[in-house]
Amino acid sequence: VSELERGLIHELIDTGRRFYARGWVMGTSGNFSAVVSRDPLQLVITASGVDKGSLTPEQFVTLNPESEVYPPGLRPSAEVALHRAIVQCTAAQSVLHTHSVFTTLLTTWLKANETLRLYGYEMLKGLSGVRTHEHTEWVPILENSQDYAMLAHEFRRLLTENPTIHCILLRRHGLYTWGTSIEEARRHVEILEFLLEVYAREHALQNKLA
Ligand SMILES: [Zn+2]
Repeated sequence: VSELERGLIHELIDTGRRFYARGWVMGTSGNFSAVVSRDPLQLVITASGVDKGSLTPEQFVTLNPESEVYPPGLRPSAEVALHRAIVQCTAAQSVLHTHSVFTTLLTTWLKANETLRLYGYEMLKGLSGVRTHEHTEWVPILENSQDYAMLAHEFRRLLTENPTIHCILLRRHGLYTWGTSIEEARRHVEILEFLLEVYAREHALQNKLA
């Protein structure tokens, strides 16, 4: 393991501790990755089935394009195809995936083909490239599936057609976001989880008061 990889793993461990404390990666859910090198593409990613609140350096797997050999007992997350798709279609150096209560609720509540647009919130300025609260952030929602090759194809299509999006939601599943560093990706999770919770609570409140 190189010095660079060690540093990235360290930052992802810290990310897991923070997200677990917020209830965004309960019961071994979620997964985190970072780019070690782009050419050839090399990713470090959390192994499958590990507790994200107490990660250790041994619970990460390095993915190389040519070798699919992993240390005994360790498998990369099943969702690795989605991480690869995001890294290949954007300038992302890190991809973070969470399973929060509010992303699950909101994507359940919104019907198929209904669009989710976030507009007018100051917190939108925490998304890279957004300078004003008068910004409309389109949040695409895809149907969940265990066919990750198909989902990766859908991710590629979305990211190619809409290069300015900051995240993708999977229905009744969770959030995928990314950043040009682990720090930026982590900020995007915090901003988006905040905004999605506000949006859900706002609509619940409106229904109650109506
Ligand atoms: Zn997931």
